[in-house]
This record gives sequence, structure tokens and C-alpha cells, in this order.
Amino acid sequence: MREGLIYKALSGFYYVDSEGESFQCRARGVFRKKGISPLVGDEVIFQIENETDGYITELKPRRNELKRPPVANIDQVLVVMSAKEPEFSKNLIDKFLVIVESYDIEPCLIVTKKDLLNAAQTAAIESQLSDYEAIGYRTYFVSNLEDQSALADILVDGINVLSGQSGVGKSSLINAVKPDSQLETGIISSALNRGKHTTRHVELIQVNGKYLADTPGFSALDIAHIDKYILKNCFPEFVAREDQCRYRECLHVNEPSCAVKAAVESGEVMQSRYDNYLQLMNEIETRKVRY
Ligand code: GDP
Ligand code: ZN
Repeated sequence: MREGLIYKALSGFYYVDSEGESFQCRARGVFRKKGISPLVGDEVIFQIENETDGYITELKPRRNELKRPPVANIDQVLVVMSAKEPEFSKNLIDKFLVIVESYDIEPCLIVTKKDLLNAAQTAAIESQLSDYEAIGYRTYFVSNLEDQSALADILVDGINVLSGQSGVGKSSLINAVKPDSQLETGIISSALNRGKHTTRHVELIQVNGKYLADTPGFSALDIAHIDKYILKNCFPEFVAREDQCRYRECLHVNEPSCAVKAAVESGEVMQSRYDNYLQLMNEIETRKVRY
């Protein structure tokens, strides 16, 4: 028996990395009966059949999992936003951060296309990023044109996944650290008139011993699983203050003596974060009415 990690799943085969050796494995029927199918990112126990093949006998418990891309045990989601083209949007940043938090995964924030800004615009973005740093998020401000391997230093040990709206430079970031460039950037995929999010499979590539999903993840629309009580826990700066709210179940909306609202008024909590929170809360509420 050996232990390993599934780095690729294709046509019923699971490719397992075990101490630098790769094995093509099938899953034993036992999983199908339980209704669990192995995911890329799963830590597994497998039985070797020969030098290249084996079969998986056991999946270790998952710490978390995403549906888009289908990957388990993610250690970091890198939320990517461009400084320009498409326009920098704190609204979208907050949406993506909320989605990552809702899956109990650590986010970080990468702003790309620094090269398109003048000094004043650069300073403005840097100031916004320092507000996110104050919340506790790590932030990076990069140019894919000027720094060819910006991503390598941002990855953490374990499994990393990128997400962010179309056109912000996710493929460029991945391509730069990928040895054999298979990913298409914007121009090519739109020339083929094929959506960039329709990629059929995901593979974990290795960058300096760290894993990176070669397919970027979910969109800002993927909030169906979030209810208002999950939502309020997706804002770390609210969670840090909610002990001081009068009501234990305070949603920080209309309740009196709310420490979060007080912190927004005093400028300790970003007004934009609070506004985006209320907007998301509203989206969640109206969704309930419609169903
Ligand atoms: P994706 O849709 O998020 O995967 O974005 P792509 O990687 O396909 O990039 C979209 C476009 O932005 C492409 O034309 C890239 O060449 C360009 N791009 C990506 N990163 C940068 C950057 O840091 N600076 C500039 N000027 N262009 C960039
Ligand atoms: Zn409150």
C-alpha cells in the first residue's frame, strides 16, 4: 500500500503522485457504492499493480472541495483582479473573497496589469490594497509583462487555485510558470470562439514543489450555497468585532448597538466592504423570495 495525491483525472483513470513517482490508477468499486468519486486533490491510499499502474483503495477525508474546478483539499485560492481592462472593481473582489471564505479556504488577492497605470493610479491601487492587508489578506500587485514568474512566489505549499473574472490575466499567470504551455490566453480562445471556462479537465501542475490547478475556478455568480448567516462569517473584520454587538445573532444590518456598523462609521471597517456586504445580503434575500 502507498499514499499519494491525485493530480489528474481523465477517462476513468486517476493519476497519482506518490513521492515524485506517478501511477495510473483505477478506483475500486467500493467508492461507487458509497457514491463518492475521487477528485483531483484527493489524498489516497493505493495498491501498486506494476511499475506504472495501481488501484485506489481508500480516500482520506477532504478538508474542502470546489465544484469549479473540481478540486479537493485546496490550500489557497488566488483571487485575481486587473488594475485596468477590465476595470478594477472592489465589488467583484469582495464577491470572490466571500466565495472563497464560504468554502473555508484561505484567499489571497492578486492585482495584475500594473504596467498599464501611471504613478498616481498605481498609488491609488496600492492604498486600496493596504486596506485589504489590514483585514488580514495577503495582496500582490504585479505585471505579467514585466515579471514573467510573478505567480511562483505567491503560491503556498499544497494546492493552489486561481479565480477571477475573464480577462484579468489568470491564464497569463499560469502560463508563465507552466513548463509546457498548454493554456490558451484570451486572444487564442476567442479566435476559436470557445468559452475559456468550458475546459473539460483540471490538472495540478507542479511549481517548485507546490501544486497549481491549471484551470481557473468559479465565477462571481456562484453564490447559491451562501445564506445570510454564512455570508456574515465570510467577512473576517466583522467576525472579529461581532462579540461587541448587542445581539448574538446580529446580522449587522438594522440591529441596534451593532459594533460592525459603529466600526464602519468610525472608518475602521471599509465602507465599500460593508456596502458590498449589504448588496450580497440583498441578493441572497431576493433569491429566497423568487424560489
Ligand atoms: P484570463 O481570462 O483571466 O485568463 O486572462 P488572460 O491571461 O487571457 O489575459 C487577458 C489579456 O490581458 C491578454 O491579452 C493578456 O495578454 C493581457 N494581460 C494579462 N496580464 C497582463 C498584465 O499584467 N499587463 C498587461 N498589460 N496585459 C496583461
Ligand atoms: Zn452587529
